[in-house]
Amino acid sequence: MSDTNEVYAARMARARALMAERGIDHVFITPSSDLTYMLGYPAHASERLTLLCVSREGEPFAVAPSLEAMRLKTRADLLDVHAWGETESPTELVARLLEGGAGARIAIGDQTWAIFLLRLQDALPEASFVSGNTILRDLRMIKDEHELRIMRDASARTDEAWAEFVATGSMAGRSEQAVAADINRLLRKHGLSGEGFAIVGSGPASASPHHMTSERIIEPGDSVVCDFGARLEHYSSDITRTVHIGEPSEEYRTVYDTVLQANRAAFAAVRPGVACQEIDRAARAVITNAGYGEYFIHRVGHGLGLDVHEDPYMVEGNTLPLAPGMVFSDEPGIYIPGRFGVRIEDILVCTEDGAESLNNVSRDLVVMN
Ligand code: ZN
Ligand code: ZN
Ligand code: ZN
Repeated sequence: MSDTNEVYAARMARARALMAERGIDHVFITPSSDLTYMLGYPAHASERLTLLCVSREGEPFAVAPSLEAMRLKTRADLLDVHAWGETESPTELVARLLEGGAGARIAIGDQTWAIFLLRLQDALPEASFVSGNTILRDLRMIKDEHELRIMRDASARTDEAWAEFVATGSMAGRSEQAVAADINRLLRKHGLSGEGFAIVGSGPASASPHHMTSERIIEPGDSVVCDFGARLEHYSSDITRTVHIGEPSEEYRTVYDTVLQANRAAFAAVRPGVACQEIDRAARAVITNAGYGEYFIHRVGHGLGLDVHEDPYMVEGNTLPLAPGMVFSDEPGIYIPGRFGVRIEDILVCTEDGAESLNNVSRDLVVMN
């Protein structure tokens, strides 16, 4: 077995242990980040069914259209691959392989198309279906060493791209889109893949957290929120830094310092066993005490991995305890409508002794021209 196959064999073993704990007989996964997680196989979702079945007992198998089945050959040590021809029904094939599946409890991936679930329910009328999150959320939330190695590397490269942008880039007189294109180019230059994102929000648009980067020309006096990331071996990075064009006002400096202190407070609150909502509260207390509470309009963080937003969420009401291996963002912000916004975002890992920041490029206020 290759090293890579060992990674995926270990994940399947963890899946089976959880399935036993939770009374799940089979997990069905179709092309999605869940499939990438279980097999390292980033197949595209299409009208032709590809499905991985991991069973509590018995060997895992996949069904795949014959024109794509050969791509699964690299995982032949891990599972049986059943190719189906253009005139066959893949859902009937799944039902045959499970010998009708009577009484089976099946967890089906949340990103599986509804049409496939409907057909599987028809083909397996005596099986019951539950959300795949029952198994996959808990697996994917705790990153293994293989994942942490990639994510550290992805974040370090993202930091390098930003440091190079600050050292060599310019903003005033250029459009948000031109700046975003520069950032994307630097992410690729530092070895990340092109399927990234760069949100650049300037002036009043910096107060809109999920702003659509526009043709607006950046001018002196603007706050510019730059939120970006790209991929390394399917894992995403995600960072936000905010710069000011020209000398900022005292008020702006106060807001910036408040956001920075909130970011540090969230970082300091991280340790195993602490509820996710406490991370949000730690950041929010700083911003509320400074009088800007009403302008911090989103949760402080989201999980990160194969998806840019995934569990666990650092939000009021989430009592899930942090555990070593959880990776999530620490991104407080203050957004004053019509005027300006500031956000500072790092990706953190929960370790036995507290938080480790994957992003370490300077968080000090950058004044650019
Ligand atoms: Zn976001
Ligand atoms: Zn972000
Ligand atoms: Zn984020």
